[in-house]
Amino acid sequence: MNDNNLMLKNPYLLQTGLLINNKFINNRLTFPVINPATNSLIIAVATANTTDVEDAIVSAEHAFKIWKNTNITKRASILKKWHDLIIDNLEDLAVIITLECGKPLNEARAEILHGASYVEWYSEEIKRINGDIIPASDSQQKISVTKEPIGVCAIITPWNFPHAMIMRKVAPALACGCSVIIKPASQTPLSALALGYLAVKAGFTDGLLNIIMGDSAQIGQQLTQSDIIRKLSFTGSTAIGKQLYAQSATTLKKLSLELGGNAPFIVFEDANILQAVDGLIKAKFRNSGQTCICANRVFLHKNIQQQFTNELLIRVRQLNVGNGLDIGVNVGPLINQQAVVNTSALVKDAIAQGATLVTGGSIHSLGNNFFMPTILSECTTQMRVFNEEIFAPIIAIYSFSSDDEVVALANKTEYGLASYFYARDITRIHRVAEQLQFGMVGINTGFISSVNIPFGGIKHSGFGREGGKYGLDEYLNIKYVCTDIQ
Ligand code: NAP
Repeated sequence: MNDNNLMLKNPYLLQTGLLINNKFINNRLTFPVINPATNSLIIAVATANTTDVEDAIVSAEHAFKIWKNTNITKRASILKKWHDLIIDNLEDLAVIITLECGKPLNEARAEILHGASYVEWYSEEIKRINGDIIPASDSQQKISVTKEPIGVCAIITPWNFPHAMIMRKVAPALACGCSVIIKPASQTPLSALALGYLAVKAGFTDGLLNIIMGDSAQIGQQLTQSDIIRKLSFTGSTAIGKQLYAQSATTLKKLSLELGGNAPFIVFEDANILQAVDGLIKAKFRNSGQTCICANRVFLHKNIQQQFTNELLIRVRQLNVGNGLDIGVNVGPLINQQAVVNTSALVKDAIAQGATLVTGGSIHSLGNNFFMPTILSECTTQMRVFNEEIFAPIIAIYSFSSDDEVVALANKTEYGLASYFYARDITRIHRVAEQLQFGMVGINTGFISSVNIPFGGIKHSGFGREGGKYGLDEYLNIKYVCTDIQ
């Protein structure tokens, strides 16, 4: 262990063991967790073997039987306690995110608040898991519909939001009466383990929340093959999502798949340009461009392209790249050197195919994990930046002349997660919002996430919704009961 833990007011938040049946298990092989800003070791964490995974499943099964029968007032109060402990430890939890994921501390704080808001929301929404009474066509019958927790849930999450992606799944699952087994990303297990530590402190039943790290393919096999696990909620790449979908077929699990995106960001000629530039900065550079809802393809009407690009360049040059723990930094490192290598290849491909480099385009002088905020203009549909999820601080600009043309271009992707456009004409606003083939549409805003909305995609961006009242349905079974009262 190096001295990173000394930065924490509460050093117990820095856990390294598997969390199974409310106990941290440390005497296992380990793997390192690396700080992407410095490339130094933060700490090593335990690797689960196949018996550990089985133990986690069995303890979650046992906990489910208790938790589903725990009355909702008690369930709500335990969740509320967990929420309060998270808020009490906000600063430390934010530091842990920045250490393992690299994002600026302000963004990490916002992520903790966002993640905690799901626990608060669902601890309240738990009271509204209502059923129905349906009038029967046969007067001798009574028909009722109830909702029941689906069972033990497996939760697999990515590194880009190591706290919030867990909370968006775990909070509704627990509210519904399910127990969970979390498999966090190998790059960022520490945020998950800190949440686990606080869950134990909040009084979670033994086995209610388990955390296992290690060989993702092996753990994924065991979780998908288990008949005890009735639900798998996955956030991550489309490639792994498809693999888990196929693997889950033999046990017919219910799935939620929150996968990759390729968001269009359209600026029509009647848009408020400064507002649109501001929205693009927010939608692009959060987490150094490593979010699934980042603006990936920026379409500018040809009449405003020059003005927009000039304003954008001013704003991009003001971005401060650095270690996310340092004050005033708005763009941190990418997650690792491989991500920077991929980013360089995307820029090279675009330039080779005719794109103009407006600014940036290379590795930052701070080191091999940092990439300069970049603008490419004159991009075309043949380029990799059009067809792939960029996941880096690159703005790729395309020009268009008509509404029909740009809507067709925006929809020309297998993905269907987020989309954005800026316009003022109300007819255009309604028409374009309807025509965009995406699960989410931001109009005159570059920021669309919040606790009370149905977050999710269509097409190869997956299915299922997280957040708001919709998030509960993912963890419930509907039961229909017909009673003959003769
Ligand atoms: P990833 O490579 O698919 O990994 C995601 C998670 O899956 C990690 O925990 C990973 O574990 C695990 N995993 C990898 N291979 C597995 C296997 N064979 N079986 C079971 N689990 C496996 O994605 P990532 O690079 O971490 O995250 C970036 C992707 O997530 C992007 O495509 C982004 O768009 C997407 N994302 C989507 C949303 C959304 O809401 N739609 C939100 C955030 C991110 P290891 O780390 O141990 O390999």
